[in-house]
Amino acid sequence: MAERVPAPNAPVPEEVGRMYDRMTLLGADLLGNGHGYNAHLGYWDGPHSELTYDQATDRLTDVMAQRLRLGSGARLLDVGCGVGAPAVRIARRTGAEVTGIAVSREQIARADELAHTAGLRGQVSFRQADAMDLPYADASFDAVLAIESMPHMPDRGRVLREMRRVLRPGGRVVLTDFFRRRSPSPATHPLRQTMGSTTVPLDDYPAILRAAGLEFVEMLDITEETVPRSFAALAEQAKDLHLAPEDTEAQCYFNPQAVIDTDLLGYLLVAARRPRD
Ligand code: SAH
Repeated sequence: MAERVPAPNAPVPEEVGRMYDRMTLLGADLLGNGHGYNAHLGYWDGPHSELTYDQATDRLTDVMAQRLRLGSGARLLDVGCGVGAPAVRIARRTGAEVTGIAVSREQIARADELAHTAGLRGQVSFRQADAMDLPYADASFDAVLAIESMPHMPDRGRVLREMRRVLRPGGRVVLTDFFRRRSPSPATHPLRQTMGSTTVPLDDYPAILRAAGLEFVEMLDITEETVPRSFAALAEQAKDLHLAPEDTEAQCYFNPQAVIDTDLLGYLLVAARRPRD
């Protein structure tokens, strides 16, 4: 069933924004990776791939970007852009003009710095905005990217309708999202508890896309290529954080072990397109 109304436990964009403000500051202070940092899972092409976690996160960006069919000068909207690392990478590699939005003010500030440092200020820009209500004119982009931001959206259908509206006819959306491999009770779902996120059943996606007026292009279950090695790497990183036990908020954000201990979480890559008129 397509989602029509926000679920009762839906994430609240302002709260998600504050969570990412906090994570961005913590990441800069504690991990020392305030610049050039991808806030998404890694992608390993197979069990023998020897990419590091950081390299594998860039690999996921590339796996998605190649599906956007961007030419030089194409206009790309990156919905939920994090600190801007994917936008900068794609701009460099394709020559596209990239606009990134996120709900977190701190992320946007860091993304601006990153574009500046990369010497790409004319080609890449960032803005604090809510994907539920995109501040752009109809048909103003050739492609839309959403790397791991859909899980934070209160209403996926509404975001997809917004994406369709700002896309030119024939333009593509490429996104990743988490899905449930089994049905946990909402109260015990590890992602809901740790990251202000929800998951959808995999089988619902085609209907959610159709209801938003998008044509289905491709849907891939990339759980094996991403989830086990990414969460193992995140659990290792979390050990170095030395968070104070009383900092329950931060303890809660950095809890990859809660995901490793279950096999509930699946990861999905979706490509869709706005029909030609
Ligand atoms: N795509 C980035 C960041 C992924 S983390 C990367 O791959 O590095 C999820 C991102 O979604 C964060 O930047 C967060 O600010 C953004 N986000 C969450 N809810 C949002 C909303 N309602 N509107 C816009 N961005 C949102």
